[in-house]
Amino acid sequence: MSLTIGVDIGGTKIAIGVITESGEILRREHISSPANDRTKMLAAVIAGINRLRAENDVTAIGISAAGLINRERDQIMFSPNVDLTGSAIKSEVELATGLPVLLENDANSAAWGEYKHGAGVGYSNIVLLTIGTGLGCGIVIDDKLLIGGYGMAAEAGHMVIKPDGQLCGCGQRGCLEQYASGQALTRSARTFVASGSPGADTLFRSCGGDVTLLTGQMVTAAALNGDPASIAILADAGKWLGYGMAAVAAMLDPEIFIVGGGGGDAGDLILDPARTAFEQRLAAKDHRPMAKIVSAKLGNDAGMVGVADLARL
Ligand SMILES: [Zn+2]
Repeated sequence: MSLTIGVDIGGTKIAIGVITESGEILRREHISSPANDRTKMLAAVIAGINRLRAENDVTAIGISAAGLINRERDQIMFSPNVDLTGSAIKSEVELATGLPVLLENDANSAAWGEYKHGAGVGYSNIVLLTIGTGLGCGIVIDDKLLIGGYGMAAEAGHMVIKPDGQLCGCGQRGCLEQYASGQALTRSARTFVASGSPGADTLFRSCGGDVTLLTGQMVTAAALNGDPASIAILADAGKWLGYGMAAVAAMLDPEIFIVGGGGGDAGDLILDPARTAFEQRLAAKDHRPMAKIVSAKLGNDAGMVGVADLARL
């Protein structure tokens, strides 16, 4: 049985696990992520790997991190949330452990995890969209992870869906991420609560009357409890998500869209509006099979499980 270690570096915590070929997590650790200090972060990652290696015979290590990674997969070119921009974490961990290390973007890792062991099992062409603060994306086409010519493929969150629309963190305007993400839910909810509408009572109470404290998670939680305003906000995000999926389908023709992240927890409250909008906007919709739109299965483990598998390849 070949075991590998998957490391998923997030903004607030790092997940490290020993993973089997069938995607089972034999052992795992969560350590807090010193996100603003790469030296401490690297030391914490290496210490965690060494603890797990001491008890399990592992053959390789996969490291998943948010950001843009070069085509050679050995450098993080841009990491907006964690102090890893320009970091050579791959070679440093290889040097410290003597094991081969594979570095991959977090959404790509999660897409591979869902493809191998989650909602994408049985399909050769999948698109994962993760609704977190932003909108992450990973793509498997013809059973291969899509990397791109410069390593930066699968940024569906930054497809311009509304010309001259909302300003995005990437420097452009009107990106899909600005309409279908945690940020988008938060912005819609804050605007609605600030309007003073009686329909905003539930959200107003959720944030204790301070709109600056409103989050996308509060919107999802209120919607799941039946709050009509929150359901409408999620439906609007779902609609934009569906428009984005139609654009992706025109280009890539996936068999299935898998929706994960915190926004994915809303399930059909976001997926049903996405399905409707997708069908409305899909090119030649009456003459082709309709891709499925489903929830992710592996939750927060998708990146760790996926990158551990990629490391084995
Ligand atoms: Zn953007």
